[in-house]
Amino acid sequence: MHEYSIVQALVERVDAEARARHATAVHRLSVRIGELSGVEVDLLTTAYETFRERTICERARLDLHFVPARWECPNCRGAIGRGDVLTCPACAVPARLVEGDEIMLDRIEMEVP
Ligand SMILES: [Zn+2]
Repeated sequence: MHEYSIVQALVERVDAEARARHATAVHRLSVRIGELSGVEVDLLTTAYETFRERTICERARLDLHFVPARWECPNCRGAIGRGDVLTCPACAVPARLVEGDEIMLDRIEMEVP
């Protein structure tokens, strides 16, 4: 399942960061989930609950932050509103996605002795 590979990559990344800082525990992860990332938040949460056992994240809380899709014109940087045609009305060029397709590890709270 897609969400399991995301969680696996996430936990591996946290593990690497924790080792690099000689952390003894990880308390909290903060992850940004874009509206267009294709991630099912419920599935991701379930995958995390399953996967984190016996990893550095075993007792780490997972905070998910939803990021709505945001579009703009690559030419004039004008914002293209939600539900609008994805073309700039002034420049007639296709809109560019500014954010909303990311799955991003934002923050790790860990215990460093
Ligand atoms: Zn424009």
